[in-house]
Amino acid sequence: MATQNILLLAGDGIGPEVMGEVKKIIALIEGKGLMAFSIEEDLVGGCAYDAHGVAISDAAVAKAQGADAVLLGAVGGPKWDGVPYEHRPEAGLLRLRKDLELFANLRPAICYPALADSSSLKRELVDGLDLMIVRELTGGVYFGEPKEIVDLPNGQKRGVDTQVYETYEIERIAKVAFELARVRGNRVTSSEKRNVMKSGLLWNQVVTATHKQGYEDVQLDHMLADALGMQLVRAPKQYDVIVTDNLFGDILSDVASMLTGSLGMLPSASLGAEDANGKRKSLYEPVHGSAPDIAGKGVANPLAMIASLAMALKYSLGKPDLADLLDKAISQTLEDGFRTGDIWSEGFRKVGTAEMGDAVAERFEALLAA
Ligand code: NAD
Repeated sequence: MATQNILLLAGDGIGPEVMGEVKKIIALIEGKGLMAFSIEEDLVGGCAYDAHGVAISDAAVAKAQGADAVLLGAVGGPKWDGVPYEHRPEAGLLRLRKDLELFANLRPAICYPALADSSSLKRELVDGLDLMIVRELTGGVYFGEPKEIVDLPNGQKRGVDTQVYETYEIERIAKVAFELARVRGNRVTSSEKRNVMKSGLLWNQVVTATHKQGYEDVQLDHMLADALGMQLVRAPKQYDVIVTDNLFGDILSDVASMLTGSLGMLPSASLGAEDANGKRKSLYEPVHGSAPDIAGKGVANPLAMIASLAMALKYSLGKPDLADLLDKAISQTLEDGFRTGDIWSEGFRKVGTAEMGDAVAERFEALLAA
């Protein structure tokens, strides 16, 4: 059995608390002899700054480079508000994304039936929702040059950002979307603004051309990003995989996340290019932050972190069957009425981080035995 090298970067705030619950699941999988792990741990964010004066050390980045999967909790908190900009906690995360060249950000929006009433949309619109937004993460208007504010002769200023994409950037993200669709509902919706943006026109052309290079078994549609925003809040269940650029992906994935009812429930993955062995560098983390307001109280919801492990099992560690069982265990835990404070309502059983993690582990173990 191949040993999987996992790097755990718990980070700040509730990061270590939710990561603790992931460790329980990893120990369970290993204890059952289903997988073999080599686990390393290191610091990222404010805690790394306190220890090393940087938001992530070179040694930790080197470990991430060599890992089969990196799992990250969360970074940041008011304690580090005054640190130099280049050493702020988020810089650790940004360096990881950059050094590992994680160009594809996968944000699933899953609405567990047990939580459908927490969504801002009607239950029938979101119950059972399971869509995946694939956002290009390292290009586009957030990085394009020139990027500046210049003084004009007339005393005014001009702010400039540049939206720029090259063929290879669009091609590689399109391939990720098509490959993902094949293990889901086999449908991809590509989104841009080709009606008003040249980069959108190129995006559309390259996605269409890539589709013809061996992905024609996947159904492909195109939709303008504004129309897609509207459709996401009208009838979100019509989508399977959505692929879009950095800016539109940022906005549309936040819209999609709110359909699910709670930030504490959402995992994410960031993937790099495939190497010669077909392996991708990867980072898995919850969408939520370090929640300093509840850190250290043992009340944080660990489900997004556990669901991030499920994504790692599926996309990096070659165990989609275990991933599905872990997702099912999360769903059953909710159906059985367990709720941390963020998703609790009258009539449900209010539990802390460890009790929620134990409830998932118990159900996961039962599913493994079934
Ligand atoms: P946040 O996601 O940390 O918290 C927003 C609200 O949601 C808070 O009330 C918090 O208690 C609650 N919440 C979040 N996750 C929860 C969980 N798992 N269980 C229960 N409740 C949960 O966002 P914020 O308050 O805007 O930011 C706090 C810090 O986190 C800041 O320093 C910010 O920069 C950082 N942050 C980090 C990441 C990351 O590490 N990827 C992402 C977002 C924010």
